[in-house]
Amino acid sequence: MNVMVAEHIGFCFGVMRALNIAKKTKEGTDKPVFTLGPLIHNPQAVHELEELGIHPINSLDEAHGGILIIRSHGVPPDVIEKAKEKGFEIVDATCPFVKRVQEYARKLCEEGYRVIVVGEENHPEVIGIIGHTGGKAEAMNKRRIPVIEDRDRIGMVAQTTQSIENLKLAISYVVERVKELKVYNTICNATYMRQQSTKLLAKEVDLMLVVGGKMSANTSRLVEIARNEGCETYHIETKEDIDPAWFSGKITVGVASGTSTPDWVIKDVVEYIKNL
Ligand code: SF4
Repeated sequence: MNVMVAEHIGFCFGVMRALNIAKKTKEGTDKPVFTLGPLIHNPQAVHELEELGIHPINSLDEAHGGILIIRSHGVPPDVIEKAKEKGFEIVDATCPFVKRVQEYARKLCEEGYRVIVVGEENHPEVIGIIGHTGGKAEAMNKRRIPVIEDRDRIGMVAQTTQSIENLKLAISYVVERVKELKVYNTICNATYMRQQSTKLLAKEVDLMLVVGGKMSANTSRLVEIARNEGCETYHIETKEDIDPAWFSGKITVGVASGTSTPDWVIKDVVEYIKNL
């Protein structure tokens, strides 16, 4: 079986940074260390962190004090305030690129724009961005299209892991309805490069495997992109999810991964396919 691996693959800068911050924090303290939600959307990487003593909590009520690491997705400002009130020490591992989106959204809001965040309304990054506008910004996606009035002045940012196609769709929808639209293309370069290399690879292979957490938005986006190229595509977390029947009659298999997938998980998958 021929295996082709996407040119851009594996952890991005923001994920690497958050992991390093978490590990260094744990090394330098005897206090309990928590992350608010899984540090990254990858169960294998989260399991490794748990073994080091870095535990995810889903709500501030699940622990009483200690060090709380804010993950790369960021959080609304009031969450940090509440955590401090509850006695947590905060270590902020929000990705600088996510911070930039939060800042743009806040600024647009202050300038009087009605702010639209192109992204998934339930994704923690989008919740954090909206939180930085005091809850005034609105999420927009294919399932959630805000009613736009012609007198609206719209300011737009994007969730860092959105596809450029989704941002273009949102822009063309809004621009037809208003006189003023200010857009910051806040799609992260790491995301964009992974999307482009997945798209190219999907054109060349008979089957695509996209490796990454089932909860990872950027991995799901890669699956969507590969399928849009007409390529049979499966979203897997580890080699255990692979069904050998998928490869029947296939000659070349492509492997891509999200920004939160550890290298060893990708290598395992590649080895497994090569040995089929
Ligand atoms: S995908 Fe981009 S914005 Fe998101 S954590 Fe990675 S580097 Fe930061």
